[in-house]
Amino acid sequence: MAVCSSSTCCDGNFDEKEKNVSTTSFLESCIPLPLPQETLDDIVPKGKDFAVLHGAGMRHKAKYDPDTLYFAPFLLLPSAFPRREFDRVVKLQPLINVLMHKIAHDHEFLKSALEKTIQVDDFTARLWDIYTKVREEGVTQEVSLGLVRSDVMLTKCQAGCCELCQTPPYVTGHQVEWISLGMFRCDYFYSVTSQVAQQVEVNTVAASFAGLATRITILHRYVIGELRKPELLHHLPENDALAGLCGAMISAWEVYSSPKAVILFVVEDVTYNICDQRFHEYEIRRQRPDILVIRRNLTQISEQGRLTADKKLFIDGDEIAVVYFRAGYEPGQYHSEAEWDARLTIERSCAIKSPSIHYHLAGTKKVQQEIARPGVLKRFLTESEAEQVGQLFTGLYTLDRSAEGDKAVQMAMENPDHFVLKPQREGGGNNIYGSEIKEVLERLKDSQEREAYILMDRIRPPVQQNYLIRPHLPVTLAEVVSELGIFGAVLGSGKDIQFTNYSGHMLRTKLSSVNEALLHVHFYPTSTGWYK
Ligand code: ADP
Ligand code: MG
Ligand code: MG
Repeated sequence: MAVCSSSTCCDGNFDEKEKNVSTTSFLESCIPLPLPQETLDDIVPKGKDFAVLHGAGMRHKAKYDPDTLYFAPFLLLPSAFPRREFDRVVKLQPLINVLMHKIAHDHEFLKSALEKTIQVDDFTARLWDIYTKVREEGVTQEVSLGLVRSDVMLTKCQAGCCELCQTPPYVTGHQVEWISLGMFRCDYFYSVTSQVAQQVEVNTVAASFAGLATRITILHRYVIGELRKPELLHHLPENDALAGLCGAMISAWEVYSSPKAVILFVVEDVTYNICDQRFHEYEIRRQRPDILVIRRNLTQISEQGRLTADKKLFIDGDEIAVVYFRAGYEPGQYHSEAEWDARLTIERSCAIKSPSIHYHLAGTKKVQQEIARPGVLKRFLTESEAEQVGQLFTGLYTLDRSAEGDKAVQMAMENPDHFVLKPQREGGGNNIYGSEIKEVLERLKDSQEREAYILMDRIRPPVQQNYLIRPHLPVTLAEVVSELGIFGAVLGSGKDIQFTNYSGHMLRTKLSSVNEALLHVHFYPTSTGWYK
């Protein structure tokens, strides 16, 4: 099945008239906006209380106080997402997990994909050094736990341009079913276009918000009930993200097979997104009261961690069965050599890591770009699997110093608004957009440094309206766009895979006018999820 590429037919230019039609007619067919002031006065305090009392909370960065929790900023109403595309990405997730697992275990591929990047990107080079050391010493733990999150955004697809546009029964005439993470049924549809999901990235390290996403899902159920729209409730899909990921950690713990061993969460020095992390801890306890979780940052691990002769990892007397990284994905979390030593100690150990270092490398932006080259997916998947996964990809371009890279540089400089320039970083806020792309490429175009980046087609998701509910700020009706994250878990070794599954989802939403929403910077809300 062929899918149009966004750089050809879906050129990312949203027609203003179309945009406005989509926003109003969709929401008005479900819950008319704006809500009357008296409805808002009633529902907003109820929503805030529900959020606080159900743990949809976080610590405030600017007003940090370990004794105070604020409700996490949220969107009052669920956001719409077409069911066909939701179902499609959910169904593909087990395959995406397998793909990441196989890439992580393919040394030759990782090496060829990353060899130029590690010459210019220090952070990836340090990860690569650890990978190489552990490989040379001999891997002590064959099994890895992948807790993966594949993020997608919708993009406009010309009706009739590909089989997806034409697939019944989801799109019949101009009617489409939208889930609203939840899903509303409504008559609205772009008059000549369809929306397809395209992948933004796959996260293999510290993919967060499974906890908050499940809280916001129940919050939206409550809000819809209070708005006296119970008939809409069955359009809100179940979300078991937390149970799914924690269940996978427990499976890894069982594989390690040492009844007294604990699960280690590697955390930041200060955790603002504390509810999300704690819910993972509590869910593990709920499912298995006999398994303890301990939390340490990399500095503490460097001080307290030790390896036995047979490579067991001990922290303060506790043997570690599973290491779950919620930090360690950005350079700022390694203050000195001590933190890098801690990472190496963990990787050398026989604890089961999520992610192990090769998984972390498989999740880099450069690898994402390399697997989007024609034919590459077939190295890891069957022809039909490769075709299905490949349909999620948008244009990705190498910036290495080759004729191909030169062409991409030129293309980006001519039309910077059509692209996103991405360094090898995680956690949001690192990408480059618009005129800045031109400035950066102008500076780097003759230098090896440009190989630290990749270029990607810019996806333009459809705009919806929703109310932003934020601590200490007025309620605002705003134009927003969403990014859907699909969680998956995979457990196995290079030789075999014990399981791969879809674990749940989350939807993060940002103002349509913002390139990237950063928790604490723009402090943006979500419908069923958050920006990291
Ligand atoms: P990170 O690992 O830092 O989360 P992402 O690739 O997810 O990196 O980029 C961060 C954010 O930038 C995304 O959540 C999305 O809002 C925006 N973004 C990334 N790639 C694209 C793209 N191709 N088109 C439009 N927006 C994008
Ligand atoms: Mg990421
Ligand atoms: Mg991301």
